[in-house]
Amino acid sequence: MQIAFLGLGIMGRPMASNLVKAGHQVAVWNRTARQHVDGARTAVSPADAARDVEVVWMCVADTAAVERVMFTDDGVEQSLREGMVVVDSSTISPSATLRFAERAAARGVHWVDAPVTGSKIGAENGQLIFIAGGAPEPVEYLQPLFKAMGKTVIHVGGTGKGQSAKICMNLQIAMIYEGFAEGMTLARKLGVEPQKMVELVQASMIRSGVVDYKAPFVMRHDYSPNFPLRLMHKDIHLLLDTAKEARVKLPGLETVDEIYELSSEEGWDDLDYAATIQLLEKWAGLGSRSK
Ligand code: NAP
Repeated sequence: MQIAFLGLGIMGRPMASNLVKAGHQVAVWNRTARQHVDGARTAVSPADAARDVEVVWMCVADTAAVERVMFTDDGVEQSLREGMVVVDSSTISPSATLRFAERAAARGVHWVDAPVTGSKIGAENGQLIFIAGGAPEPVEYLQPLFKAMGKTVIHVGGTGKGQSAKICMNLQIAMIYEGFAEGMTLARKLGVEPQKMVELVQASMIRSGVVDYKAPFVMRHDYSPNFPLRLMHKDIHLLLDTAKEARVKLPGLETVDEIYELSSEEGWDDLDYAATIQLLEKWAGLGSRSK
């Protein structure tokens, strides 16, 4: 297939590369430092990348980035043709997704929101899980592309439902990690070996994939970004805004948001969100352990 891939960050670059490896013709574009992906054409603008393609795939930071890529003067909108499919693997606002999809639909273009889970390692290994929202036909049509970049697609419902499900997942990831970080910090203060504590957690009924992924990094004090803190913080704000619109209270997440505010003030935005444990350690008088 002919595909435009927009956004070559931690997730986008390996995703685009996996599309090339699967034999697709890919044009890529990135906002700064015109990045290159082996075997792909480097486009000069989103509109240039999207010219004559069947599918436009985005993986950019946030709602504002999607709006910029789609709807500015050199945006994808300039190249939309009836029958094209636009796929958004960024994690963005469910309500903005509905607005963007309506604007695309006015040009006869399908919109599929397909945010992902699996992080950097999942993107590099082609093992992402796609959380799709949209009409059944375009979701079915995209199956070969999902397969090239991931291991599973869960079609959760109509347009925007992928984004809704994704942020509700990230709510749980943030809370599970916060529980792990608080448990590890207190255990350390009480003199329990961190490695023993991880062994115990993972052998028990509280075992979690979040801990499987993050514990090795925490044990090495390696907070290089897999999922940058600034992006988890963005998702926490998306969740709190969306919950407010839906008249749902999230008191636990409001507290976790404060941890992210303070971590951001520490200058840790570009570290992995796992770095938030350092704040707890600092408060506990355990000192900072970052590399
Ligand atoms: P990242 O490494 O920070 O990359 C962000 C990308 O968005 C870069 O290509 C960046 O371009 C582009 N961008 C930012 N602002 C822009 C704007 N105003 N206009 C155009 N492009 C803009 O982030 P990532 O980790 O790849 O994440 C991408 C998306 O996937 C986010 O929505 C994130 O929440 C989601 N996600 C991430 C993970 C993860 O573990 N990393 C997992 C699941 C979902 P520049 O290079 O020019 O800055």
